[in-house]
Amino acid sequence: MTSLTVRLTGVFKVHDTRGATGLDDLFAKFKELVNELLDYSSTRSITAFKRLKGEKYHELRSKHPELPSHYIYTACQMASSIYRSFRKLKRRGKARGDKPFFRRNVVMLDDHLLSLDLERWEASVATENGRRVLGKLLHGTYHEKFRDMRAGEAWLVKGEEHGSLYLKAVFSGDVEVADPNGSRLAVDINENNVTFGTEKEVNKLITKEKAMRTGYFLKRRRLQSASRLNEKPIMSKYCGREARRVEAVYHRAANAIVKKAKEEHVSQIVLEKLRNIRNRIAYRREMNGRLHRWSFRRLQSIIEYKAKVTAVSVVYVDASYTSRLCPTCGDKLSLRGYRVAKCVNCGLEEDRDVVAVKNLLQRDVPTSTVQGESSPMTISEERRPSSCRSQRWVRTEPTWL
Ligand SMILES: [Zn+2]
Repeated sequence: MTSLTVRLTGVFKVHDTRGATGLDDLFAKFKELVNELLDYSSTRSITAFKRLKGEKYHELRSKHPELPSHYIYTACQMASSIYRSFRKLKRRGKARGDKPFFRRNVVMLDDHLLSLDLERWEASVATENGRRVLGKLLHGTYHEKFRDMRAGEAWLVKGEEHGSLYLKAVFSGDVEVADPNGSRLAVDINENNVTFGTEKEVNKLITKEKAMRTGYFLKRRRLQSASRLNEKPIMSKYCGREARRVEAVYHRAANAIVKKAKEEHVSQIVLEKLRNIRNRIAYRREMNGRLHRWSFRRLQSIIEYKAKVTAVSVVYVDASYTSRLCPTCGDKLSLRGYRVAKCVNCGLEEDRDVVAVKNLLQRDVPTSTVQGESSPMTISEERRPSSCRSQRWVRTEPTWL
């Protein structure tokens, strides 16, 4: 058995903001700090958190003596990660302006700034005027799973509605994962189905995600063209509904995969390491909106998390040409129709997705990735979540920045 740390992000709505009044100052000051740091980074091209902190910490500390010092650390973390993302976008020609500007009402916390009482579902944050108790955190049974986990870095986010507040926190907990016994299960994710199996048997689960996404996409477009209806509440109602439906489909698929792995006594689930999923499916330009919503990585991370909490490890393998080469003889396959592939050399005729699964099962596992690729619910070697370790922060960079 190997001990691994499972990381999981939880979002809690803060129910009563009575105690949270006075946080406006904190949001404003944090924003000011991050923007000052972004200015500094941009003019000097500083991407490293360490250097930014090294050069600016003391100055900012003496400028804001009343502010708990860890906010300067977290502001440096946030600024350096925003600046890095900005540079990446800029290189691809997708960012406007010379420097990024931080507009969101978000405050980044670490384990010194936030204290979280999971027994009573209460949280408090350090401010200029001492600790502020946030109201009760709303939670259902869904959130019970965080109970035995440790809270690490977190973000306090001001919601769209007036006075609404959310706490987003990364939890980690230890799980025991079985050592590899040679038995593997591979998963091939497609827009409309998830195909998975072992050497013995391959199953295909129809997700109909494409149809679902297209339906919502068309609905959104209709709403957008009718100006009266192009209002936020209606749009966000449909967006929220789409996200929830897709999320439910992902969880069902992940459950089926993990169940299969348990039944077959599989010690390892093989997932595809894909660089560019956009090259993978044919699409028309008008369908861009739908395509960009296909969250392939999200499904992978759900599978990864569910596998690991049930003691099955996950590996990512190179997935290039998995649907184009014959799993039996390695020759190039030719297509028969859209879904079936045929090997001229050995006569194999098989569904393309089944071929992909069979090829994935044969791929070598790079030893360095055994601990898993980084993903929102990533697993890493045991390390106590401490306040400011750049690696960890970067990994959990929230997608909504
Ligand atoms: Zn062949």
